[in-house]
Amino acid sequence: MSAETDFNVTDSEWEVMRVVWAHGQASSKEIIDVLGQKMDWKPATTKTFLGRLVNKGMLNTQADGRRYLYSANVGESEFVRHALDEFFGHVCNREVGKTIGSVLSKATLSHKDISLLQTILDEKKETAVEEVPCNCVPGQCHCNVHSGGSCSC
Ligand SMILES: [Zn+2]
Repeated sequence: MSAETDFNVTDSEWEVMRVVWAHGQASSKEIIDVLGQKMDWKPATTKTFLGRLVNKGMLNTQADGRRYLYSANVGESEFVRHALDEFFGHVCNREVGKTIGSVLSKATLSHKDISLLQTILDEKKETAVEEVPCNCVPGQCHCNVHSGGSCSC
């Protein structure tokens, strides 16, 4: 992964990345076939997104005879972690627990998932704080909007 990788991909480009992640290495034809089925995209549409992802440094491309093969520069789990960090960057620190709770309550989980979460929660309990400090700029969350610093929520 180069320093110039642009993680800001659109939802459409994310669809393309998923095909490449699933294949490891995929030809433009394979990608076009999957997305033609799922998204009803014309080949030219998929090719446009492939070009953008190469420009963003998300995809590598190499010629293989007359076709092009694509591989990902960024792993799927790394990308998802990055997207989540970015998402939570938009949420007040004090709301993160509740937000995770609402994600959790909607998710379908296996017993294995639940034991993993329980282990994480047990560890978190060891370092839990009495009150999560707000990290927001005054005026961007409910903590600061009325009280100018000390939280009223
Ligand atoms: Zn806040």
